[in-house]
Amino acid sequence: MDILVCPVCKEPLDLAVEREEDGEVLTGTLTSPGCGATYPIEDGIPNLLPGPVSGPASS
Ligand SMILES: [Zn+2]
Repeated sequence: MDILVCPVCKEPLDLAVEREEDGEVLTGTLTSPGCGATYPIEDGIPNLLPGPVSGPASS
């Protein structure tokens, strides 16, 4: 997996692995040391959607 950066503060994310299989992280948590945001990894897919944000939304 490539090193991911926080979409908010651009700091490299810390990875905490919960389940790993064949070298792939299936479930875990990415934590931003810069702003403290956390992002889940589910089914091997990091969810980097930021939490509550202010300002214009894409929806
Ligand atoms: Zn951050």
